[in-house]
Amino acid sequence: MRDNTRLIHGYEVFDEQTGASSIPIYQCSTFKQTSIRQDQPYTYSRFGNPTRRALEEGIASIEGGRFASAFSSGMGAISAVLLSFSRGDHLVMGKSIYGGTFQLVNEVLQRFGIKVSFVDETDLDQWRQAIRPNTKALYLETPSNPLLQITDITSVVSIAKESQLTTIIDNTFMTPLLQKPLELGVDLVIHSATKFINGHSDVVAGLVVTDDPEWAEQIKLQQKVLGSMLGVEDCWLIMRGMKTLGLRMQQSCQSAEAISHFLAKQPQVRNVYYPGLPSHPGYAIHQKQAKNGGAVLSFELANQQAVYSFADAVKLPIAAVSLGGVESILSYPVTMSHACVPKEEREKQGVTEGLLRLSVGIEETEDLLGDLAQALEKIDQ
Ligand SMILES: *Cc1c(COP(=O)(O)O)cnc(C)c1O
Repeated sequence: MRDNTRLIHGYEVFDEQTGASSIPIYQCSTFKQTSIRQDQPYTYSRFGNPTRRALEEGIASIEGGRFASAFSSGMGAISAVLLSFSRGDHLVMGKSIYGGTFQLVNEVLQRFGIKVSFVDETDLDQWRQAIRPNTKALYLETPSNPLLQITDITSVVSIAKESQLTTIIDNTFMTPLLQKPLELGVDLVIHSATKFINGHSDVVAGLVVTDDPEWAEQIKLQQKVLGSMLGVEDCWLIMRGMKTLGLRMQQSCQSAEAISHFLAKQPQVRNVYYPGLPSHPGYAIHQKQAKNGGAVLSFELANQQAVYSFADAVKLPIAAVSLGGVESILSYPVTMSHACVPKEEREKQGVTEGLLRLSVGIEETEDLLGDLAQALEKIDQ
């Protein structure tokens, strides 16, 4: 079965009891037991629920792992993974990881005695050199946000394996359709399902997938005791959204590629960051590990004034944080994702006042290109 078929038939999508064409929302906290003498598959919805189970089997099937857990947010999923480590453990992470993860690490994990080193994720020597005797895991995110830098997954996995370390990846930007880290040897895959997997900017959710039974048991325990499992209505909505993931990605990625090529030729645009452009420094590595450049790109205008004129003139993309919706989303990292990062540090990272990020939706490519073109013309040169 290929991915687009798997999205529709690769898990228990239909209800065994009634034949209903979508798994029902089992809106219950508890389950009537056949007998108090024995256990049964479902007893209490925090421990397990058939609607949640269906979503978990669905994502496991597409990501290519045997086990998955659904959480109330991407951060819920990331917390469940990272709180599996113990006092005295050390982790190595890419320095451009998601802002919420960075905050979790610095403001919570370090307080519990879990140490973290950050490395330039594109430099394999830095990953290797950061490993200490108490290092337990390497944590990466590729492409990175918002500059879409590429980390070589296979090489990071082999560095981890030399020292028997776990590898963890946040695969939100690529989705399981474009990049399958478990096949490349990664142990745990995390998604903010809020983004492309749900795809409609109407649910916040997170997922963890693994093929390792011990990790699966650990993550299930965290889900149960931290209590951050996803509610049944949201599980149903994510499944509803996920069925069209293939079609949505096809349209969005095709437009993102066309937009990147278009922007790269415009005099008002200083830089385009998109791993599907052959001029991108990570292009060759990205081609090796992912199907295409994805649906997110960033580009740099001359300065903040140019950004404001452009953003005021653009009509289709909504100005918002987040990404991965059916509607195109334009984000300004300086006042949104990177507002808390000191200016000097932000600029060192390449997040300048001219930088914009565009998550490309499923609108007609020509309409998006036309809209961006007219908005660029509004910038006073
Ligand atoms: C949005 C996002 C998260 C956090 O997910 P939430 O669902 O907002 O909790 C984590 N990682 C990446 C890469 C994201 O884009």
